[in-house]
This record gives sequence, C-alpha cells and structure tokens, in this order.
Amino acid sequence: MHFEDSLDFAVSLDHYDELAGFRKEFHIPRMHGRDAIYFTGNSLGLQPIKARDYVLQELEDWKNLGVEGHLHAKNPWFSYHEPFKELLSGIVGAKPEETVAMGSLTANLHFLLVSFYRPTRHRFRILCEKKSFPSDYYALDSQVRYHGFEPADAVIEIGPREGESIIRTEDILQTIEQYKESLALVMLGGVNYYTGQWFDIKTITEAAHRVGAFAGYDLAHAVGNVPLSLHDWQVDFAAWCSYKYLNSGPGGVAGIFVHEKHCKNKNIPRFEGWWGNKPNSRFKMERTIDAFETAEAWQLSNAPVLSMAPHRAALEIFSRAGMDKLRNKSVKLTGYLEYRIQKINEQLSGSPIQILTPADPSQRGCQLSLEINGGKKVFDQISEKGVVADWREPSVIRVAPVPLYNTFRDVYEFSEILLQALKS
Ligand SMILES: *Cc1c(COP(=O)(O)O)cnc(C)c1O
Repeated sequence: MHFEDSLDFAVSLDHYDELAGFRKEFHIPRMHGRDAIYFTGNSLGLQPIKARDYVLQELEDWKNLGVEGHLHAKNPWFSYHEPFKELLSGIVGAKPEETVAMGSLTANLHFLLVSFYRPTRHRFRILCEKKSFPSDYYALDSQVRYHGFEPADAVIEIGPREGESIIRTEDILQTIEQYKESLALVMLGGVNYYTGQWFDIKTITEAAHRVGAFAGYDLAHAVGNVPLSLHDWQVDFAAWCSYKYLNSGPGGVAGIFVHEKHCKNKNIPRFEGWWGNKPNSRFKMERTIDAFETAEAWQLSNAPVLSMAPHRAALEIFSRAGMDKLRNKSVKLTGYLEYRIQKINEQLSGSPIQILTPADPSQRGCQLSLEINGGKKVFDQISEKGVVADWREPSVIRVAPVPLYNTFRDVYEFSEILLQALKS
C-alpha cells in the first residue's frame, strides 16, 4: 500500500473509506473541546449510540410489565440471548450452535477448563504464552493446583527468543513436540494483549491435536479485531469479553465457543445450570437436566438482559459492517500508523520508537505496541493533547486504531502529537 505523509492524504483516505459512516454510530469522548483521538478500543470500546435506547427499552418493559416481561416484553427475556449466537458466529467463524453469549471472561475460562483440562498423572501440562494477561495465569495456576499439580511444573510458558519481542510459531510447535507425552492443553491468547501478536491459531491447533492435547484460546484481543474461523480451524474451545473491540460496555456479558464435535460428546464433563436445559423442557423443572447439544449447554444462568442490550446494539453494527470489510480497513489504518511512526524515526536521531508488534499484517490486528525509552513522559504529554492511549510499565504505549470509529486523520494527528512530544 502506498502512503503519503500529508494531512490531505489522510483526509482523502477517509473520504474514500466505505466504512467512514460508522463513526457516527458511536459516542466519541470529547477532550479540550474536540473529539478525543481514542486509541483504546482494545481496552474499552466506545458506546454505540443505540445502546442507550436498547437498555431503556428493557428498563421500560421491566417497569411496565414486571415478571410478565419474560414472555411479553418487546424482546422477551426468556429468549433474549438467542439471537446472539447468530451474531457472534459471524464474528468468530463458527456455527451458531457453537457460540453463546454468557457470563464473564475469566469465569467462562474456568468453566471451559472444567471441561477441557482433565489432567492425568502422565498428561497434565498446559502450554501458554509468556506475558499472558494476569487473569489467564491465575485461572490456569488455580486450575492446576485444584487438580493437585504444581504450576511451576505443569504450566509451561513459551516466550520470545533473547532479543526478540514476538514468539515464533516454530518455537511454539517445537515446544508442543517437546512435551508431547505430557501436554494436556495448549491455551494461548488469540492476539497477545501486550505485543499485539496474532498467533497462527490453525497451525498451533493442528500441532496440539497431533500430540493428543486440546487447544483453547482467550480471544479477548482477537474477537472483533481479526478474522477468525474457529470451526474450520478445529479449535476446541474459546472465550472472549465483549467490552474491548466489541464495544458492548464495561464488564459486559462475555461469550464462548465450543466446537460442535464436543457439544454432543457425553464424555466431556461440565458444570451445569438450568439455562443449559433445553428451553422447551426448562420450565418443567425436572430433577434431571435435559441438556442442549450445543454450546448453550455450558450456559448456567438466565440471561443478564441489561448487559445484553448494549451488546445487541454493538453486534448489530458488526453484522452490518462485516468482518471482511472491517479487516480490510484495519490493515490499512494500522499500516498507515506504522508508516507514520517510521517517518518519525527517520526524522529523529536514534530511532526512538521500537514497534514490538509484528510488521507482518497477518500476524497482528489493529494494535501497535510502541516501546519508547522514557516513554511515561511522552505518554503523559500526548494524553494532555487529547490522545487516549494505554501505558504499560516499563516503557510501552499501546495504540489501537479501530476500523469502526477511528479515522486516517486520527492516525495523522496522533503521530504529529507524538512527534512533538518526542522532540520536547
Ligand atoms: C481483558 C482480558 C481479560 C479480562 O478478564 P475479565 O474476566 O473480563 O475481567 C482476561 N484475559 C485477557 C487475555 C484479556 O485481554
């Protein structure tokens, strides 16, 4: 892709951007009397304008109907969660029966580990990535201890080679091979939250299966960010949250994927609840569960309608925009950001910015992680100028231009502000 270094060029890219209209469907926070340059959709996505109406609809129906809302609300609460499987399956590349909106991310990871981490004396190890998100470590460590093993022995962390910042696929495959006798599970982030590296899920899943291990993914930073084909890639299970790229609100309802081949398998145990019972027999209140043979079998409780309402508003936007088009724009937008950062490095002595994220677009989503010596001062300065980015100790600024509401102009202005901060 050919880029130019002028504001006019950025403005013309926005002009020809077929997704540009979607920005108007979000509330853009204001700072210093103008729209913020909001590059933290990877942490908390912005509010869809329609979210408010969707929530108010449920509050109104609750106010006017009380318990009758379960059946007679405009969107009956009894089945409120059902349209989500269609909406989510398009985003993660699954069959609708393989996805369900439920619970919260870390809790869902535990429920999935109950099903897919069943260690034996000989096969008890879990492979995960170094610099995984802390909650994922805590979930894995505590599961390992719960089963009577020691994390130091059972949790294998694969990191980058000395002097490198991303993890080589060949090293992941080699480690899987190395532990082939004892590996029970490979569990990685789809996209690493710190470096923005997008793992080769298909290849890694195949390697895990070759040695007799399951492969599951925490897609917190992948869902709504990169195209996924969980079904075709034969992924065993996955979980994600909805408040990052999916723009569904703080602490919003999360989601899971369980591959079809496991949904009907009676040998896979689960922790169950009444919402895992098929709807037509659920209210017979029988002693024994009549479980779904879909991912909904993992569902425990009745749907959190008030947090599902903004989720619906957000997912409807995704289904109108389409993941393919979003990805196309995302590759351009992040490519343009990378280009502008290279220009800054050319202008300043010593190339002050090191990009930790892979340069190959097929190994990253929209985020770039910028390592800058003395970066905290730079971060504070750009924050004062209206940039909303994310600071990670000791020296990393994470920026994520997202294709639904960020513009090429945002990228241009961000890099001007960054250049000024670095010069001062
Ligand atoms: C954001 C994130 C979480 C957060 O977990 P919650 O249970 O939603 O609080 C966990 N893991 C990863 C990889 C994340 O990026």
